[in-house]
Amino acid sequence: MYNVSELMALSEEPPQQSAAEEPPHRSTPGRAPLWAHVPDAQWDDWRWQLSHRLNSLEELSQLIRLTPEEVAGVRSHHFRVDVTPYFASLIDPDDPNCPIRRQVIPTGHESAAYDGMFVDSLSEDAHSPAPGLVHRYPDRVLMLVTTQCASYCRYCTRSRIVGDSAAQFSRSDYDAQINYIARTPQVRDVLLSGGDPLILPQRILEDLLRRLRAIEHVEVIRIGSRVPAFLPQRITPELVNMLRQFHPLWMNLHFNHAREITPEVATALARLADAGIPLGSQTVLLAGINDSVAVMKELVQRLVRQRVRPYYLYQCDLVEGAGHFRTTVSKGIEIIEGLRGHTSGYAIPTYVVDAPGGGGKIPVMPQYLLSQAPGKVVLRNFEGFITTYHEPNDYTGHTVARPERPQVNREVGQEGIAGLLEGAAHSIKPQGFDEVHRRGRQPAALGEVTWEPIQPELALAAIAHRNGNGNGKERK
Ligand code: SF4
Repeated sequence: MYNVSELMALSEEPPQQSAAEEPPHRSTPGRAPLWAHVPDAQWDDWRWQLSHRLNSLEELSQLIRLTPEEVAGVRSHHFRVDVTPYFASLIDPDDPNCPIRRQVIPTGHESAAYDGMFVDSLSEDAHSPAPGLVHRYPDRVLMLVTTQCASYCRYCTRSRIVGDSAAQFSRSDYDAQINYIARTPQVRDVLLSGGDPLILPQRILEDLLRRLRAIEHVEVIRIGSRVPAFLPQRITPELVNMLRQFHPLWMNLHFNHAREITPEVATALARLADAGIPLGSQTVLLAGINDSVAVMKELVQRLVRQRVRPYYLYQCDLVEGAGHFRTTVSKGIEIIEGLRGHTSGYAIPTYVVDAPGGGGKIPVMPQYLLSQAPGKVVLRNFEGFITTYHEPNDYTGHTVARPERPQVNREVGQEGIAGLLEGAAHSIKPQGFDEVHRRGRQPAALGEVTWEPIQPELALAAIAHRNGNGNGKERK
């Protein structure tokens, strides 16, 4: 991990590098008076932004009329505080409920413990075959490449490691991550995250991307980043030109409120989209920040206007410090109810609860299937219109052609419900199920009884064997 001065030293980009290709974007008209004297050339330089982040009570007090709750939070915060001058300028200094302010300024509520709180809510550390590498899903991995971010979100899921200047990923950690991916052919999709990968020195990020792209079975590379929201100045033409070498490269961004989409952000997003990088966005559902249909609708519509597809709406994770940001799950369902049908499908994210304990993302939505019977289902739409869909009587299934190229078995042990439907398995049992239901009985005492259905040909052979007739027909 690198501190700010190391980041500056490691970067190979000269300052003001964008001037030759494009006119630098102008500073926000809403730049806080505290920085009115700063020349645009500095304000628009991401290095200047990083090295002037606010983190102390004294610095924050110059910008914001802090409440006693915020003063207590800054004094006792459990998780690093840092806010770029750019993002801090979006804060309403007089409104303690400002949705920008609440995302980055700690309050005393962060120290409150609550039922269900975890340190590692998603159990990522339990799914980690190499330092910083999380292999939770069958065909994809999460590669944590840094612990550093441009600013720090008070609800961060990875607050256990993010922002810790003593925790860092070394070259040998990267080697171990990449070696695991190279020897695991089921991995076709790699998501770089952290921390924020776009905080890495450009040459280190480029080296990682090049090594990943050299692995034949890695089809897609994704980068998760909140830099376009916190530090849009970092999305320089040079960075984008580097990224575009590694297609198919996708980016998943992170926006929580429409106020985050400023002219600077629009410029950054346009550069990424113009480079052919498909853009998605994840949003965390946060009490008092975006927990209303109107606020969420404005956000998703503005994202789509910037060519960003709303991807996930996350229920707030059960992490330390984030208890006061949680909403009920029913609030998330209400928001999806208020979006589906009321705005373009492209603007509607999938609402998910990331299962505490490491179960992965579980989609949750309003109920649209009202009832069913053989031959028909009853559905309702967003207006409450109820209709019947008649199913075919002669549909036999299995008409879809097999894939043309052989598939690597990507889902060993993770076939799940889809595996039951395909017939790959008959049941899914909780760990220890058989032992519990054997209740101490030794299997040999009653003979080996199997409760699994057997294949028809095996059944015929067993009957033939029992009846002493090798052709499977019963004796007359
Ligand atoms: S940008 Fe992401 S990793 Fe960084 S603090 Fe925010 S949520 Fe956590």
